[in-house]
Amino acid sequence: MGYEKSIKAFEEAYRYIPGGVDSPVRAFGSVGGTPPFIERGEGPWLFDIDGNRYIDYVQSWGPLIFGHCDPQIEAAVMETAQKGLSFGAPTTLETDLAREIVELFDSIDKVRFVNSGTEAVMSALRLARGYTGRDDIVKFTGCYHGHSDSLLVQAGSGAATFGAPSSPGVPADLTKHTLLATYNDIESVAACFEQSEGGVACVIIEPIAGNMGLVPAEEKFLQALRALCDEHGALLIFDEVMSGFRASLKGAQGITNVRPDLVTLGKVIGGGMPVGAFGGRAEIMHQLSPEGPVYQAGTLSGNPVAMAAGLASLRKLKSDPSIYVTLAERARKLMEGFEAAARAEELPLVTQVRGSMFGFFFTDKPVRNFDDAKRGDNELFKHFHRAMLDRGIYLACSSYETGFISTAISDELIDETIRAAYEAMAAVADSR
Ligand SMILES: *Cc1c(COP(=O)(O)O)cnc(C)c1O
Repeated sequence: MGYEKSIKAFEEAYRYIPGGVDSPVRAFGSVGGTPPFIERGEGPWLFDIDGNRYIDYVQSWGPLIFGHCDPQIEAAVMETAQKGLSFGAPTTLETDLAREIVELFDSIDKVRFVNSGTEAVMSALRLARGYTGRDDIVKFTGCYHGHSDSLLVQAGSGAATFGAPSSPGVPADLTKHTLLATYNDIESVAACFEQSEGGVACVIIEPIAGNMGLVPAEEKFLQALRALCDEHGALLIFDEVMSGFRASLKGAQGITNVRPDLVTLGKVIGGGMPVGAFGGRAEIMHQLSPEGPVYQAGTLSGNPVAMAAGLASLRKLKSDPSIYVTLAERARKLMEGFEAAARAEELPLVTQVRGSMFGFFFTDKPVRNFDDAKRGDNELFKHFHRAMLDRGIYLACSSYETGFISTAISDELIDETIRAAYEAMAAVADSR
């Protein structure tokens, strides 16, 4: 495969855009080489400007559960766009999408739309702080909740330590209110509660973590988390920006019996358009402006074209319960294929699947938290990623990302991908 045009395009982009990209992971930093510049998508396929074709397992980092150019979503977008792109005034489309979400999630009485997952989480945090009158929040190392200040605190020294900012430009005064716990480790959360002086407003968690690779939370851990939050009067926030409509129709909440106080949504909810949402119990949501004192707003929030795309996606997802069964079967088959391909070359590989989400780590130890995930061999991942790309398989370009199956990816394409994985694992073994 040639990448000449992409290489030129990347050089040109570099002159005008920091790093040549509008979101850092797109630059292929952790796997090296040039990212293919995309010309168009079609069903399961991505086509780059050099004319290469890939089976797309990234799907714009999650949103495109029906693959590219789904006819119903496209029709909804076109039809709505012809009536005007934005009004900054209420439309019934917002109510229609809100109703669908409230009917689906028993933890959500009311929901508000924003433009991204980052914004959804940022707003949910402010609401949790406003509602409880407390400043501290607890997050887990390895969980990603967008790039807002309070949440851009990652790893560091593990459980129950006050976080150091992981980006310059984030004031320490702010991150001192962010306490870090270890995923799937309830003792570390209890330690955060003990350390907090002013009290914990909320614990925020990806109930199925997708941003340290795929690492599901254990059921008894989530139950203990719920109990601990109740005991301390803290809110529990499920960040389902990725897992919502992905792990199941109801996200993680279709898998666990634990219910959060607030939920954040994004990605699939916009069908490929920029949409985020946060919702929860009515008494908490009533605190939001204009009903309550907690301020939150957005010029383009609830944009009609974005709402139409989201509505078309959700209605399509709701119309056929077999969608998630098929997606999960294909994800499992793909990961079993990767495991067999790795075994054939005596390479260590741990895989995990939740619904249409899949993850794999080049390690032989179970992966339950960020430290485990970091034990995955990045060199092996890097070689595997390149070898797959060269065989027309587009996987996320970092081992700390999750892969996604779309309904457009057929059983035959899964088989084709597994065949490529055998070749790629052999190439990886040779590189050792
Ligand atoms: C992607 C993601 C976000 C951020 O969403 P953006 O739309 O990129 O701002 C927040 N939380 C989780 C769990 C995510 O996966």
